[in-house]
Amino acid sequence: MAEQSLYQWGTARRFNSLPDHFKKQFGGRVQKVSVNAGFTCPNRDGKAGTGGCTYCNNNAFSPSYCLVEKPVTVQIGEGIEFHKTRYRRSFGYLVYFQSYTNTYAGSSHLREIYEQALSVPGVKGLVIGTRPDCVDEEILNLIASIAKDNYVIVEYGIESCYNKTLKEINRGHDFEASVAAIRKTSELGIRTGAHIIFGLPGESRQDMLAEAEILSALPLDNIKFHQLQIVKDTLVARQYSEEPEKFNLFTLEDYLDFLAEFIERLNPSFVVERFAGEVPLRFIAGGVRWGLRYDQVLGLFEQKLKEKDTWQGKYYSPVY
Ligand code: SF4
Repeated sequence: MAEQSLYQWGTARRFNSLPDHFKKQFGGRVQKVSVNAGFTCPNRDGKAGTGGCTYCNNNAFSPSYCLVEKPVTVQIGEGIEFHKTRYRRSFGYLVYFQSYTNTYAGSSHLREIYEQALSVPGVKGLVIGTRPDCVDEEILNLIASIAKDNYVIVEYGIESCYNKTLKEINRGHDFEASVAAIRKTSELGIRTGAHIIFGLPGESRQDMLAEAEILSALPLDNIKFHQLQIVKDTLVARQYSEEPEKFNLFTLEDYLDFLAEFIERLNPSFVVERFAGEVPLRFIAGGVRWGLRYDQVLGLFEQKLKEKDTWQGKYYSPVY
């Protein structure tokens, strides 16, 4: 396999990073502001399933200002204030529809909510988190029309490329649904993202490494990775307490080694938004606790890439 230039995305970092992408796109730092727009999820209300995905507890990753009782514009205003105290210089904000399934409503309601978000001063675009089985032609056409004049990413929870795993974690859709949604979204000219979890029950290291090639062949723009964490009030927490031997949770050192091998195989055009999850310790029910903030994990990972003299896409070969 041919080696590719370390600097093909034009920066000194060994992966195609989100801050560098934002710098090219907007001229500098852009912050995401999460909102809870009151959507639910078809995997909880019975349409696709009940009980939800086995690992899901939305409270574990929603910032405190995301209270569904508050209008979206108020949540955005409070989120912007929160970020202003942490980051003095920001070129703008992207509203992140993060909780639950943010295309799970009729298109007129979606238009209203998305337009409200875009009306807040300083907002430069939207990130819409959703499931691949919750978009149809009407919704994607609506998003495409918004994306003509605004920066928009549709971020799909894929979680795994294997249908056996998707069944095990009760996702309520298969990988074919993910591929179809990604292709359709990309064809409409909308920036398309994906979220993947590593360490799901039944997946070997080889299975997970093989996902790099499968994902690299998809028309994705952005990608995010999380390690499986055993979060309180989830089915996974109960399964883990009953049969911990079924789980193969990553230690930090193992994860960094795995990730380095994974991203060598990953399409270098993908912007990697995240390499690991960061659920607050008070939500963790058991399993491996790394005890580090995300920026510390990222620092160690970049050090690992340097030691191994490797980078995103080093061994990537496009499939024609
Ligand atoms: S992870 Fe997403 S799709 Fe699964 S139950 Fe939670 S909100 Fe629904």
